Amino acid sequence: MKVGYIGLGIMGLPCVLNLLKAGHQVTVWARRKESAQAALDAGASWADSPSSLAQGVEVVVTNVSDTADVEAVLLGNDGVVQGASAGLVCVDMSTISPIGARAIASKLAESGIDFLDCPVSGGQVGAVNGTLTIMVGGKAEALARAKPALEAMGMTITHIGDSGAGQVAKACNQIAVGVGVAAVAEVMKLAKACGVDPVPVREALLGGFAQSRVLDIHGQRMIDDNYVPGFKAQLHLKDMGIVLDTARELGIRLPEAERVEGLIRQLVEQGEGELDSSAIARLIWQQN
Ligand code: NAP
Repeated sequence: MKVGYIGLGIMGLPCVLNLLKAGHQVTVWARRKESAQAALDAGASWADSPSSLAQGVEVVVTNVSDTADVEAVLLGNDGVVQGASAGLVCVDMSTISPIGARAIASKLAESGIDFLDCPVSGGQVGAVNGTLTIMVGGKAEALARAKPALEAMGMTITHIGDSGAGQVAKACNQIAVGVGVAAVAEVMKLAKACGVDPVPVREALLGGFAQSRVLDIHGQRMIDDNYVPGFKAQLHLKDMGIVLDTARELGIRLPEAERVEGLIRQLVEQGEGELDSSAIARLIWQQN
């Protein structure tokens, strides 16, 4: 199928390579053309603007940073909406606010364009291997049309509900990951404080009820004290902001998420936003 792709970073570039590998025709646009070079070398075509990228494709995928960035490339000057024809499906794989996703969907609907919020979990490894977990919000009929493209990038594709529901699922995911990282850091802290080696503790726990990807991957990072990303703390802070803003708008408290957001914020504010967000373990270990 003919796919346009915008956002060729850690996640977007491997997704484009997988789309090409699956036989799709991919056109890309990037605000800095050098970000697109690897995709062009692999066989993607170049468009001069988001609006020209939208002409003649069936699906446009965005994988940029935050809500304002998705708005800019889809709805801004020379944005996708200006070149698109009715019937286009816009798939946004960025992690943005559920409210922002709903607003973008209704703006695009005015031009007959469908919007699916499709945030992902699985990290860079999942993007490279084409095994992402994709959480979809929007119309089932639009999902059916975009599915061949999604299947080239992800392994588990779950239709969560209406517009915004995919982003709600992603916000839930980020609470579970963040609080899980803090819990694993406390596991290590207690073991060490008791004079017990955390290495066999992690191994034992991986075979029991406390088993998790967070214990496996981030637990190993903590043992190695190696926080090369992975998932940058500054992006996790953005996501925890989405979680807490959503909770605030609904008038509910999420105290565990608040605590983790505070730790990630401290990490970013001390200039370590480029580290993997599991580096909050160091802060937890420094506390009494
Ligand atoms: P990244 O490496 O920083 O890449 C983002 C890309 O989007 C860059 O190529 C950037 O262009 C482009 N971009 C951003 N704002 C733009 C704008 N206004 N106009 C045009 N292009 C713009 O980030 P990433 O790690 O791929 O993450 C992308 C999204 O996936 C984020 O929402 C993130 O939270 C989410 N996510 C990331 C992971 C992960 O493990 N990394 C996992 C799940 C979800 P330039 O090259 O010009 O800067």
